[in-house]
Amino acid sequence: DQAREHGQLWENHSAEMAGSRDWRFSLSGELDAAMAAEHIWVAFQPKLDIAAGRITAAEALVRWTHPERGDIFPDSFIPHLEKNGRMLDLTLYVLDRVMEQARRWSLAGNPINVAVNVSAPLLVMDAFVGAMRERLDGGTLLPSLLTLEITESASMEDPERALAGMRLFAEMGIRLSIDDYGTGQSTLSYLKHFPASEIKIDKSFVLAIRDNRNDQAMVRSTIDLAHELGFAVVAEGVEDAAVLEYLRALGCDYAQGWHIGRPIPAKDFAKLAGIGIVSCNAA
Ligand code: C2E
Ligand code: MG
Ligand code: MG
Ligand code: MG
Repeated sequence: DQAREHGQLWENHSAEMAGSRDWRFSLSGELDAAMAAEHIWVAFQPKLDIAAGRITAAEALVRWTHPERGDIFPDSFIPHLEKNGRMLDLTLYVLDRVMEQARRWSLAGNPINVAVNVSAPLLVMDAFVGAMRERLDGGTLLPSLLTLEITESASMEDPERALAGMRLFAEMGIRLSIDDYGTGQSTLSYLKHFPASEIKIDKSFVLAIRDNRNDQAMVRSTIDLAHELGFAVVAEGVEDAAVLEYLRALGCDYAQGWHIGRPIPAKDFAKLAGIGIVSCNAA
């Protein structure tokens, strides 16, 4: 009886797992409708200019508010969109909303540079490069207000191709940032050939610097070497004031994390950054 009960429990559990896998699988089929309904939206997380003590930039992080499933985070749906070849559409949707918002803030006298995450395969996709060039020529892509973030590990899968893609965007005047730095395979001596302006130290190192001397050493030496090579440095995952003070003492340029602000809707970001109520969604 006990064995049967256990078997039953296991079956229920498996059914639940299969069920949860199923609904995520179907998300890419819902993408177009979700974008049209604005169920997919962009959250803005502030980036603090540490020396200036001001929020001068943001990272755009996509959110999906599903009518039945509630808020779904990108790690749950981006892998499925990647498998189904839907990242081009999602990325352009995010980019267009980001540019429209950044343009409004800038016109109101508050230039905020916004970073958009781009999957490495898109960088070298003709359709993406063409769509970006079209927006640049049409005046809806404002390169001085845009940064593209590319994760270090993805770039290192095919560094020569990633490098070629990055050069195209750098030539368009767009800032490039190496995301999740420290988790990939590159060395700073390789990275110095990347036409990037910024590296973002992965939050796993930043979260650990409170009590781990090795992580302190890693963060300290990365900041120094990155500066020698001409990169600005962002620390992500700054969750408390002590870590922010430590980073300030090390000369880190920007801080991003819950201590500074969570990813929030544009109108809330504007309030946090003290730039008034100039957002696309009046709601
Ligand atoms: P990422 O680009 O490394 O973004 C940083 C992630 O860390 C975000 O998770 C953010 O919410 C989280 N975070 C920020 N501050 C803190 C902190 O102080 N502590 C902790 N523990 N976490 C913090 P999120 O929003 O769930 O995004 C996850 C990943 O999904 C992103 O990692 C990015 O790689 C990807 N992603 C998000 N939006 C897009 C997008 O529009 N396009 C693409 N291609 N990828 C995206
Ligand atoms: Mg990022
Ligand atoms: Mg990151
Ligand atoms: Mg990440």
